[in-house]
Amino acid sequence: MALDPQLLEILACPDTHHAPLDYDPQAQTLTCTECGRIFEVRDDVPVLLLDEARGGPAGDDARGGSGSQR
Ligand SMILES: [Zn+2]
Repeated sequence: MALDPQLLEILACPDTHHAPLDYDPQAQTLTCTECGRIFEVRDDVPVLLLDEARGGPAGDDARGGSGSQR
């Protein structure tokens, strides 16, 4: 199964930069071209949530200190 190319075109990173995403059909992941976060594709549905993303500029360990997200 592959994601719809038209869907891929409108997908963007949920972070403030809204950068385009690189789709890896083998790994079933979307990689942000700006911040490098990796988003999983589950059952052909991209999980574009910052909380679910892997990697990124600050790393997972830095979260929880300065942010105001609940
Ligand atoms: Zn990004």
